[in-house]
Amino acid sequence: MSRQRIGDNLTDVKVKNRALVLRLVKKRGLLSRIELARITGLTQPTITNIVNELINSNLLHEVGTSDTKSGRKPILLSFNNRAFYTIPISFSRHGFSVALTDLAPSILFRRDSFYSLLENTDLALLELQKEFIHVLDYATQSLRLILGIGISVPGPVDAETCTILAHPIFLNNKTLDLRPHLLEYDLPIFMSNNADAACLYETWNGEAKEIKNMVYFMAGEGVGAGILIDGKIYQGYNKKAGEIGHTTVNIFGPRCTCGNQGCLEMYCSTLKILEKAREAAWFGESPYLHHLLTEEHTELHFHHVIEGARNEDPTCLNILKQLGQYIGVGIVNLLNFNDPEVIVIGGEAALAREFIEEPIRRGIEERLLYREYVQPRVFYSRWGDDIRLLGAASVVLDHFMAGELGRF
Ligand SMILES: [Zn+2]
Repeated sequence: MSRQRIGDNLTDVKVKNRALVLRLVKKRGLLSRIELARITGLTQPTITNIVNELINSNLLHEVGTSDTKSGRKPILLSFNNRAFYTIPISFSRHGFSVALTDLAPSILFRRDSFYSLLENTDLALLELQKEFIHVLDYATQSLRLILGIGISVPGPVDAETCTILAHPIFLNNKTLDLRPHLLEYDLPIFMSNNADAACLYETWNGEAKEIKNMVYFMAGEGVGAGILIDGKIYQGYNKKAGEIGHTTVNIFGPRCTCGNQGCLEMYCSTLKILEKAREAAWFGESPYLHHLLTEEHTELHFHHVIEGARNEDPTCLNILKQLGQYIGVGIVNLLNFNDPEVIVIGGEAALAREFIEEPIRRGIEERLLYREYVQPRVFYSRWGDDIRLLGAASVVLDHFMAGELGRF
Protein backbone atom coordinates (compact mmCIF):
# COMPACT_ATOMS: atom_id res chain seq x y z
CA MET A 1 0.00 0.00 0.00
CA SER A 2 1.41 3.39 -0.93
CA ARG A 3 1.44 5.76 2.02
CA GLN A 4 1.00 9.22 0.62
CA ARG A 5 1.45 11.67 3.45
CA ILE A 6 -0.57 14.84 3.55
CA GLY A 7 -1.23 17.65 6.02
CA ASP A 8 -0.52 16.66 9.56
CA ASN A 9 1.65 13.71 8.54
CA LEU A 10 -0.33 11.37 10.80
CA THR A 11 -2.56 9.36 8.53
CA ASP A 12 -2.49 8.45 4.90
CA VAL A 13 -5.33 9.44 2.60
CA LYS A 14 -6.93 6.01 2.53
CA VAL A 15 -7.11 5.70 6.30
CA LYS A 16 -8.33 9.26 6.55
CA ASN A 17 -11.16 8.63 4.08
CA ARG A 18 -12.14 5.36 5.75
CA ALA A 19 -12.16 7.15 9.09
CA LEU A 20 -14.38 9.86 7.63
CA VAL A 21 -16.91 7.34 6.30
CA LEU A 22 -16.89 5.32 9.52
CA ARG A 23 -17.39 8.44 11.64
CA LEU A 24 -20.34 9.59 9.53
CA VAL A 25 -22.14 6.24 9.71
CA LYS A 26 -21.45 5.88 13.43
CA LYS A 27 -22.67 9.36 14.29
CA ARG A 28 -25.60 9.74 11.91
CA GLY A 29 -26.92 6.18 11.89
CA LEU A 30 -28.16 4.62 8.68
CA LEU A 31 -26.65 6.08 5.49
CA SER A 32 -26.53 4.91 1.89
CA ARG A 33 -23.48 4.96 -0.38
CA ILE A 34 -25.09 7.78 -2.39
CA GLU A 35 -25.58 9.88 0.73
CA LEU A 36 -21.99 9.21 1.81
CA ALA A 37 -20.71 10.40 -1.59
CA ARG A 38 -22.85 13.52 -1.35
CA ILE A 39 -21.78 14.39 2.22
CA THR A 40 -18.07 13.66 1.80
CA GLY A 41 -17.61 14.95 -1.72
CA LEU A 42 -15.80 11.70 -2.60
CA THR A 43 -16.61 10.01 -5.91
CA GLN A 44 -19.08 7.10 -6.07
CA PRO A 45 -16.34 4.55 -7.01
CA THR A 46 -14.17 5.73 -4.09
CA ILE A 47 -17.08 5.40 -1.66
CA THR A 48 -17.91 1.95 -3.08
CA ASN A 49 -14.30 0.82 -2.52
CA ILE A 50 -14.14 2.21 1.01
CA VAL A 51 -17.50 0.72 1.97
CA ASN A 52 -16.54 -2.69 0.59
CA GLU A 53 -13.31 -2.64 2.61
CA LEU A 54 -15.17 -1.64 5.76
CA ILE A 55 -17.79 -4.35 5.22
CA ASN A 56 -14.98 -6.90 4.77
CA SER A 57 -13.43 -5.66 8.04
CA ASN A 58 -16.83 -6.24 9.70
CA LEU A 59 -17.05 -2.57 10.68
CA LEU A 60 -20.06 -1.76 8.50
CA HIS A 61 -23.16 -3.86 7.84
CA GLU A 62 -25.74 -3.59 5.10
CA VAL A 63 -29.18 -3.30 6.66
CA GLY A 64 -32.17 -3.10 4.34
CA THR A 65 -33.09 -0.33 1.97
CA SER A 66 -34.28 3.22 2.36
CA ASP A 67 -37.75 4.37 1.36
CA THR A 68 -37.67 6.11 -1.97
CA LYS A 69 -40.74 6.57 -4.13
CA SER A 70 -39.14 5.62 -7.43
CA GLY A 71 -36.16 3.80 -8.89
CA ARG A 72 -33.80 1.39 -7.17
CA LYS A 73 -33.86 1.63 -3.41
CA PRO A 74 -30.40 2.36 -2.01
CA ILE A 75 -29.01 -0.11 0.54
CA LEU A 76 -28.39 1.40 3.96
CA LEU A 77 -25.22 0.95 5.98
CA SER A 78 -24.88 0.73 9.74
CA PHE A 79 -21.87 0.79 12.04
CA ASN A 80 -21.14 -2.54 13.75
CA ASN A 81 -20.67 -1.70 17.42
CA ARG A 82 -19.59 -5.29 18.12
CA ALA A 83 -16.68 -5.28 15.66
CA PHE A 84 -14.24 -4.50 18.47
CA TYR A 85 -14.20 -4.01 22.23
CA THR A 86 -12.44 -1.85 24.81
CA ILE A 87 -11.46 -2.27 28.43
CA PRO A 88 -12.09 0.93 30.35
CA ILE A 89 -10.76 1.50 33.86
CA SER A 90 -12.09 4.39 35.92
CA PHE A 91 -10.56 5.52 39.17
CA SER A 92 -12.48 7.51 41.73
CA ARG A 93 -11.43 8.74 45.13
CA HIS A 94 -12.98 5.69 46.76
CA GLY A 95 -12.20 2.83 44.41
CA PHE A 96 -12.08 1.84 40.80
CA SER A 97 -14.10 0.00 38.14
CA VAL A 98 -12.96 -2.14 35.21
CA ALA A 99 -15.27 -3.14 32.39
CA LEU A 100 -15.65 -4.55 28.92
CA THR A 101 -17.48 -2.34 26.41
CA ASP A 102 -18.38 -2.57 22.77
CA LEU A 103 -17.90 0.37 20.42
CA ALA A 104 -21.26 2.05 21.19
CA PRO A 105 -19.73 2.25 23.82
CA SER A 106 -22.01 0.25 26.12
CA ILE A 107 -20.88 -1.56 29.25
CA LEU A 108 -21.15 -5.33 28.73
CA PHE A 109 -19.50 -6.48 31.95
CA ARG A 110 -18.07 -4.62 34.91
CA ARG A 111 -16.21 -5.17 38.14
CA ASP A 112 -16.26 -2.55 40.89
CA SER A 113 -13.78 -2.34 43.74
CA PHE A 114 -13.58 -0.18 46.83
CA TYR A 115 -9.79 -0.36 47.05
CA SER A 116 -8.62 3.20 46.60
CA LEU A 117 -5.39 4.40 45.01
CA LEU A 118 -5.56 7.29 47.40
CA GLU A 119 -5.64 5.19 50.56
CA ASN A 120 -3.33 2.31 49.64
CA THR A 121 -1.85 2.55 46.18
CA ASP A 122 -0.04 -0.83 46.18
CA LEU A 123 -3.05 -2.76 47.40
CA ALA A 124 -5.39 -1.02 44.94
CA LEU A 125 -3.03 -1.82 42.04
CA LEU A 126 -2.92 -5.47 43.11
CA GLU A 127 -6.72 -5.58 43.19
CA LEU A 128 -6.79 -3.92 39.80
CA GLN A 129 -4.76 -6.82 38.36
CA LYS A 130 -7.27 -9.30 39.83
CA GLU A 131 -10.32 -7.48 38.50
CA PHE A 132 -8.64 -7.03 35.13
CA ILE A 133 -8.23 -10.81 34.85
CA HIS A 134 -11.98 -11.25 35.58
CA VAL A 135 -12.77 -8.95 32.67
CA LEU A 136 -10.36 -10.79 30.36
CA ASP A 137 -11.97 -14.09 31.40
CA TYR A 138 -15.37 -12.71 30.47
CA ALA A 139 -14.02 -11.50 27.12
CA THR A 140 -12.35 -14.81 26.38
CA GLN A 141 -14.00 -15.35 22.96
CA SER A 142 -13.11 -11.86 21.82
CA LEU A 143 -9.63 -11.22 23.22
CA ARG A 144 -8.10 -10.46 19.82
CA LEU A 145 -10.84 -7.88 19.22
CA ILE A 146 -9.93 -5.75 22.24
CA LEU A 147 -8.58 -2.46 20.94
CA GLY A 148 -6.99 -1.15 24.09
CA ILE A 149 -7.27 0.01 27.67
CA GLY A 150 -8.82 3.40 28.42
CA ILE A 151 -8.22 4.96 31.80
CA SER A 152 -10.09 7.89 33.32
CA VAL A 153 -9.07 9.57 36.56
CA PRO A 154 -10.20 12.57 38.57
CA GLY A 155 -7.66 15.35 38.14
CA PRO A 156 -4.98 15.99 35.57
CA VAL A 157 -3.05 13.32 33.68
CA ASP A 158 -0.12 13.14 31.31
CA ALA A 159 -1.69 11.00 28.58
CA GLU A 160 1.60 10.40 26.76
CA THR A 161 3.31 8.81 29.75
CA CYS A 162 0.07 7.35 31.25
CA THR A 163 0.79 9.16 34.47
CA ILE A 164 -1.65 10.50 37.03
CA LEU A 165 -0.22 13.92 37.82
CA ALA A 166 0.09 15.39 41.27
CA HIS A 167 -3.26 16.58 42.50
CA PRO A 168 -4.12 18.03 45.87
CA ILE A 169 -7.09 15.73 46.28
CA PHE A 170 -6.69 12.59 44.30
CA LEU A 171 -3.20 11.29 45.01
CA ASN A 172 -1.93 13.56 47.75
CA ASN A 173 0.66 15.20 45.54
CA LYS A 174 2.04 11.88 44.31
CA THR A 175 2.39 11.11 40.63
CA LEU A 176 1.71 7.58 39.48
CA ASP A 177 2.82 5.93 36.24
CA LEU A 178 0.25 3.22 35.49
CA ARG A 179 2.04 1.58 32.55
CA PRO A 180 4.19 -0.90 34.53
CA HIS A 181 0.99 -2.29 36.04
CA LEU A 182 -0.77 -2.86 32.71
CA LEU A 183 2.01 -3.49 30.19
CA GLU A 184 1.89 -7.28 30.51
CA TYR A 185 -1.47 -7.35 28.72
CA ASP A 186 0.18 -6.04 25.56
CA LEU A 187 -2.67 -3.66 24.75
CA PRO A 188 -2.44 0.02 23.81
CA ILE A 189 -3.13 2.20 26.87
CA PHE A 190 -4.87 5.57 26.70
CA MET A 191 -5.55 7.90 29.55
CA SER A 192 -7.66 10.97 30.23
CA ASN A 193 -9.06 13.18 32.92
CA ASN A 194 -12.60 11.94 33.65
CA ALA A 195 -14.39 15.14 32.61
CA ASP A 196 -12.47 15.23 29.30
CA ALA A 197 -13.32 11.56 28.77
CA ALA A 198 -17.01 12.20 29.54
CA CYS A 199 -16.95 15.08 27.07
CA LEU A 200 -15.63 12.69 24.39
CA TYR A 201 -18.40 10.19 25.16
CA GLU A 202 -21.06 12.81 24.45
CA THR A 203 -19.52 13.42 21.03
CA TRP A 204 -19.73 9.71 20.12
CA ASN A 205 -22.90 8.46 21.69
CA GLY A 206 -24.47 11.21 23.70
CA GLU A 207 -26.12 14.54 23.36
CA ALA A 208 -23.55 16.31 21.24
CA LYS A 209 -22.61 14.11 18.28
CA GLU A 210 -22.41 16.96 15.80
CA ILE A 211 -21.18 19.61 18.22
CA LYS A 212 -17.67 21.06 17.88
CA ASN A 213 -17.60 23.48 20.82
CA MET A 214 -18.96 22.40 24.16
CA VAL A 215 -18.27 22.19 27.84
CA TYR A 216 -19.10 19.08 29.85
CA PHE A 217 -19.80 20.10 33.45
CA MET A 218 -19.26 17.02 35.59
CA ALA A 219 -20.52 16.99 39.16
CA GLY A 220 -20.06 13.84 41.19
CA GLU A 221 -17.60 13.26 44.02
CA GLY A 222 -15.57 16.02 42.41
CA VAL A 223 -16.54 18.85 40.10
CA GLY A 224 -14.71 19.54 36.85
CA ALA A 225 -15.24 20.36 33.22
CA GLY A 226 -14.17 18.89 29.90
CA ILE A 227 -13.73 21.50 27.19
CA LEU A 228 -14.15 20.75 23.50
CA ILE A 229 -12.89 23.43 21.10
CA ASP A 230 -13.18 22.93 17.33
CA GLY A 231 -13.81 19.24 17.92
CA LYS A 232 -10.71 18.73 20.07
CA ILE A 233 -10.37 18.43 23.82
CA TYR A 234 -8.58 21.47 25.24
CA GLN A 235 -6.27 20.35 28.04
CA GLY A 236 -4.39 23.54 28.78
CA TYR A 237 -0.65 24.24 28.88
CA ASN A 238 -0.12 22.24 32.08
CA LYS A 239 -2.92 19.76 31.30
CA LYS A 240 -5.09 21.11 34.08
CA ALA A 241 -7.71 23.09 32.18
CA GLY A 242 -11.33 22.77 33.23
CA GLU A 243 -10.92 22.81 37.02
CA ILE A 244 -14.17 24.74 37.42
CA GLY A 245 -14.75 22.96 40.75
CA HIS A 246 -11.87 24.92 42.25
CA THR A 247 -13.00 28.35 41.17
CA THR A 248 -14.02 30.49 44.13
CA VAL A 249 -17.70 31.24 44.59
CA ASN A 250 -17.36 32.52 48.18
CA ILE A 251 -14.09 33.95 49.49
CA PHE A 252 -15.37 33.46 53.05
CA GLY A 253 -16.56 29.92 52.33
CA PRO A 254 -15.36 26.64 53.84
CA ARG A 255 -11.77 25.49 53.31
CA CYS A 256 -11.46 23.20 50.30
CA THR A 257 -9.07 20.24 50.07
CA CYS A 258 -7.12 22.24 47.48
CA GLY A 259 -6.25 24.85 50.13
CA ASN A 260 -8.47 27.57 48.69
CA GLN A 261 -11.69 28.73 50.34
CA GLY A 262 -15.27 28.55 49.10
CA CYS A 263 -14.54 26.56 45.92
CA LEU A 264 -17.58 25.62 43.80
CA GLU A 265 -16.87 21.97 44.60
CA MET A 266 -17.61 22.65 48.27
CA TYR A 267 -21.23 23.32 47.24
CA CYS A 268 -21.77 20.96 44.31
CA SER A 269 -19.94 17.72 45.02
CA THR A 270 -22.14 14.76 45.91
CA LEU A 271 -19.85 14.21 48.94
CA LYS A 272 -20.88 17.62 50.29
CA ILE A 273 -24.54 16.91 49.48
CA LEU A 274 -24.25 13.68 51.46
CA GLU A 275 -22.76 15.53 54.45
CA LYS A 276 -25.87 17.72 54.47
CA ALA A 277 -28.13 14.72 53.99
CA ARG A 278 -26.56 12.78 56.88
CA GLU A 279 -26.90 15.79 59.16
CA ALA A 280 -30.55 16.22 58.18
CA ALA A 281 -31.13 12.50 58.72
CA TRP A 282 -29.41 12.45 62.09
CA PHE A 283 -31.31 15.42 63.49
CA GLY A 284 -34.62 14.24 62.04
CA GLU A 285 -35.06 17.30 59.83
CA SER A 286 -35.64 14.97 56.92
CA PRO A 287 -38.27 12.35 57.83
CA TYR A 288 -37.42 10.28 54.76
CA LEU A 289 -33.65 10.12 55.39
CA HIS A 290 -34.17 9.80 59.17
CA HIS A 291 -36.25 6.69 58.58
CA LEU A 292 -33.60 5.17 56.28
CA LEU A 293 -30.86 5.88 58.78
CA THR A 294 -32.52 4.87 62.05
CA GLU A 295 -35.10 2.25 61.04
CA GLU A 296 -33.46 0.60 58.06
CA HIS A 297 -29.81 1.32 58.99
CA THR A 298 -29.07 2.30 55.42
CA GLU A 299 -25.79 3.93 54.46
CA LEU A 300 -26.95 7.06 52.69
CA HIS A 301 -26.06 7.62 49.05
CA PHE A 302 -26.87 10.40 46.62
CA HIS A 303 -29.74 8.44 45.06
CA HIS A 304 -31.46 8.36 48.48
CA VAL A 305 -31.64 12.17 48.42
CA ILE A 306 -33.26 11.98 44.97
CA GLU A 307 -35.71 9.34 46.22
CA GLY A 308 -36.50 11.54 49.23
CA ALA A 309 -37.24 14.47 46.93
CA ARG A 310 -39.51 12.24 44.81
CA ASN A 311 -41.35 11.41 48.04
CA GLU A 312 -41.72 15.15 48.65
CA ASP A 313 -39.43 15.22 51.66
CA PRO A 314 -38.97 19.00 52.11
CA THR A 315 -35.31 18.80 53.22
CA CYS A 316 -34.30 16.59 50.28
CA LEU A 317 -36.14 18.96 47.94
CA ASN A 318 -34.31 21.89 49.48
CA ILE A 319 -30.88 20.24 49.35
CA LEU A 320 -31.33 19.52 45.63
CA LYS A 321 -32.72 22.98 44.91
CA GLN A 322 -29.59 24.49 46.46
CA LEU A 323 -27.42 22.06 44.49
CA GLY A 324 -29.11 23.33 41.32
CA GLN A 325 -28.56 26.94 42.37
CA TYR A 326 -24.83 26.39 42.84
CA ILE A 327 -24.47 24.35 39.66
CA GLY A 328 -26.25 27.30 38.00
CA VAL A 329 -23.50 29.59 39.32
CA GLY A 330 -20.85 27.33 37.77
CA ILE A 331 -22.74 27.12 34.48
CA VAL A 332 -23.15 30.90 34.24
CA ASN A 333 -19.39 31.29 34.88
CA LEU A 334 -18.60 28.76 32.16
CA LEU A 335 -21.02 30.35 29.69
CA ASN A 336 -19.62 33.83 30.34
CA PHE A 337 -16.03 32.67 30.12
CA ASN A 338 -16.15 30.07 27.37
CA ASP A 339 -19.23 30.83 25.22
CA PRO A 340 -19.70 27.21 24.08
CA GLU A 341 -22.31 26.05 21.59
CA VAL A 342 -23.62 23.54 24.14
CA ILE A 343 -23.18 22.80 27.84
CA VAL A 344 -23.74 19.23 29.01
CA ILE A 345 -24.39 18.69 32.70
CA GLY A 346 -23.29 15.24 33.72
CA GLY A 347 -22.01 13.05 36.51
CA GLU A 348 -24.10 11.72 39.37
CA ALA A 349 -25.65 15.13 40.10
CA ALA A 350 -27.34 15.12 36.67
CA LEU A 351 -29.48 12.18 37.83
CA ALA A 352 -31.32 14.77 39.94
CA ARG A 353 -32.27 16.65 36.75
CA GLU A 354 -35.97 16.90 37.64
CA PHE A 355 -35.01 18.90 40.76
CA ILE A 356 -31.96 20.90 39.63
CA GLU A 357 -33.09 21.90 36.14
CA GLU A 358 -35.40 24.73 37.20
CA PRO A 359 -32.92 26.47 39.58
CA ILE A 360 -30.20 26.14 36.91
CA ARG A 361 -32.51 27.61 34.26
CA ARG A 362 -33.42 30.49 36.57
CA GLY A 363 -29.76 31.14 37.41
CA ILE A 364 -28.95 31.47 33.71
CA GLU A 365 -32.02 33.60 33.06
CA GLU A 366 -31.24 36.01 35.90
CA ARG A 367 -27.46 36.29 35.73
CA LEU A 368 -25.98 35.36 32.35
CA LEU A 369 -24.30 38.22 30.53
CA TYR A 370 -26.01 39.09 27.23
CA ARG A 371 -29.00 36.97 28.34
CA GLU A 372 -31.30 39.13 26.21
CA TYR A 373 -29.98 37.64 23.00
CA VAL A 374 -27.97 34.57 23.96
CA GLN A 375 -29.95 31.36 24.32
CA PRO A 376 -27.59 28.77 25.79
CA ARG A 377 -28.27 25.14 24.97
CA VAL A 378 -28.03 23.08 28.14
CA PHE A 379 -28.27 19.29 27.88
CA TYR A 380 -28.32 16.71 30.65
CA SER A 381 -26.29 13.53 30.42
CA ARG A 382 -28.32 10.43 31.31
CA TRP A 383 -25.49 8.17 32.42
CA GLY A 384 -24.90 9.15 36.02
CA ASP A 385 -21.74 7.67 37.44
CA ASP A 386 -21.44 5.16 34.55
CA ILE A 387 -20.06 8.07 32.53
CA ARG A 388 -16.66 7.43 34.16
CA LEU A 389 -16.36 4.03 32.45
CA LEU A 390 -18.14 5.14 29.28
CA GLY A 391 -15.76 8.10 29.08
CA ALA A 392 -12.70 5.89 29.53
CA ALA A 393 -13.97 3.61 26.73
CA SER A 394 -14.55 6.68 24.54
CA VAL A 395 -10.88 7.65 24.81
CA VAL A 396 -9.95 4.34 23.13
CA LEU A 397 -12.83 4.71 20.66
CA ASP A 398 -11.65 8.21 19.73
CA HIS A 399 -8.15 6.96 18.81
CA PHE A 400 -9.62 3.99 16.95
CA MET A 401 -12.05 6.10 14.93
CA ALA A 402 -9.20 8.42 13.92
CA GLY A 403 -7.48 5.41 12.34
CA GLU A 404 -4.60 5.51 14.80
CA LEU A 405 -4.78 1.88 15.95
CA GLY A 406 -4.03 0.29 12.58
CA ARG A 407 -7.31 -1.67 12.59
CA PHE A 408 -8.74 -0.32 9.32
ZN1 LIG B 1 -10.75 23.79 45.83
